[in-house]
Amino acid sequence: ATPTALMVGTGRGAKMGILIKNGEVLEAVNDVKTVIFDKTGTITVGKPQVTDVVGDEAQVLQVAASLEDASEHPLAAAILARAKTAQIKATAVEQFRAIEGKGVAAVINGQTGFVGNDKLLTDFKLDQALTARASQLQNEAKTVVYVGLADRIIGMIAIQDVPKATSKTAIAELKARGLKTVMLTGDNQRVAEAVAAEVGIDEVIADVLPGDKADHVQAFQQTGKVAFVGDGINDAPALTTADVGIAMGSGTDIAIDAGGIVLVKNDLRDVDKALALSRKTFNRIK
Ligand code: ADP
Ligand code: MG
Repeated sequence: ATPTALMVGTGRGAKMGILIKNGEVLEAVNDVKTVIFDKTGTITVGKPQVTDVVGDEAQVLQVAASLEDASEHPLAAAILARAKTAQIKATAVEQFRAIEGKGVAAVINGQTGFVGNDKLLTDFKLDQALTARASQLQNEAKTVVYVGLADRIIGMIAIQDVPKATSKTAIAELKARGLKTVMLTGDNQRVAEAVAAEVGIDEVIADVLPGDKADHVQAFQQTGKVAFVGDGINDAPALTTADVGIAMGSGTDIAIDAGGIVLVKNDLRDVDKALALSRKTFNRIK
């Protein structure tokens, strides 16, 4: 009987740490052609660490930590941790602003400062040496943020978030099933490509603003059903838009609510297991 098969399937999943929240997703799974992944916290561990500080390290960290103090972004946490290790104390700032997909800005000691990516830099001409160093760091899969103070770039901070140990195997399993794998990220193209190469992802879409993730999912839906795997607040619209939304158990509550399937163990190999289980369960229901 239909409900029995569903219960057996969801029960088996729950034992493996794969929570199937509704039967609806099961129907879509059979026809999934593309699996789209968020990068940070989904393919990578989600605990970025500062690896390089370019410029006067004490000053760059002091300004950056002060500006990032009110931010909840994982990159902010990395900068604050590094400042703490270096025993640098944050200065109080005024007029703090988080600029979605770009960075943060605030007034520090009467001067405007910012920390963020090149989308924040439209008014600056970066000197060649700095640009070259940034590209080099990005090719090493490091995210680069620029630190600006009073109309001047005072330095750069490189931050790395390593792939989870099982991400590469997980992607290979999905590709072996004939599925296309895609990475969708707000991070820079070079960094995204470097991470994608490490784990074997087929296609990269980088520099995506948080509000645009769902549109990219829709574009792939032109060619077949799409599963989206993510963990962040900004992944929620993509998780709901996808035919199968798969949230990381470690993700934000908003992402977990938006996902039809939740991976409790945060292991990307469970994507393949979830797809296989759903397929089995659905075929039994039919
Ligand atoms: P994702 O979650 O896909 O990695 P986000 O949209 O959160 O992407 O961020 C995209 C990019 O915006 C980051 O890689 C970084 O360059 C910049 N950015 C966002 N927030 C901050 C912040 N608080 N400090 C510095 N840079 C930031
Ligand atoms: Mg994420």
